[in-house]
Amino acid sequence: MIKRLKGIVIGKIEYQESSKILKVYTKEYGNISIIGKGARRQGSILSAPLEVFNYISFVIYYKFEREIQTVKEASIIEHFENIKSSPELYKTGTAMLHIIKHIGKTGEYFSLLLNSLRKLNEGNTDIFWRFYVLSLSIAGYKPALDRCRHCKREVKEGGYFVISEGGILCKDCYTNGGLYLEKDEIQQLRALQKGKILKLNKKEKNLLLNFGRYHLGEWVSHIK
Ligand SMILES: [Zn+2]
Repeated sequence: MIKRLKGIVIGKIEYQESSKILKVYTKEYGNISIIGKGARRQGSILSAPLEVFNYISFVIYYKFEREIQTVKEASIIEHFENIKSSPELYKTGTAMLHIIKHIGKTGEYFSLLLNSLRKLNEGNTDIFWRFYVLSLSIAGYKPALDRCRHCKREVKEGGYFVISEGGILCKDCYTNGGLYLEKDEIQQLRALQKGKILKLNKKEKNLLLNFGRYHLGEWVSHIK
């Protein structure tokens, strides 16, 4: 069956003498692997589109039982030139792709990833934390920041974030193993969850990374 799809190239390995195997993140199927035969030969029409970070339109011969689908044609929709040419943006973008490689079994992160790459391409590296926190939410691990995980009362002042509890405990319920967050830090994390782009302090970043590592897996420690 021939299928035309759109996707973002999130990984690449050179294969044999002249081919490329790529991981592409699609809205329809999540992550898929494709092979561009002869894509490393000079003059191959597949050569330019099949590069990491490209948002591409492509045609595959789709066989369900096949692990790697063969690409017939491909063209670039957006190429995110600034991300590729700036070491700082590249590093941040690579961290986003790393996350999608691990959690992108379905296509539900697609518009989040695409919009975040667009923002990053404009030079905004703070977009990473918005992307990360919203990815956690979609994956089903949204830190609970509004109410105490035990007594369910609204947390209006500071509180203790306990990773194994999945969120905040109030001063009355807290016993141990958490990190105290000031009122304004909690408010900042809430705003981030609502989609605001913010600068975080080191404490907040570490907390979010530890939260992700606990709930999603050790691979989160390779982010940044
Ligand atoms: Zn409580």
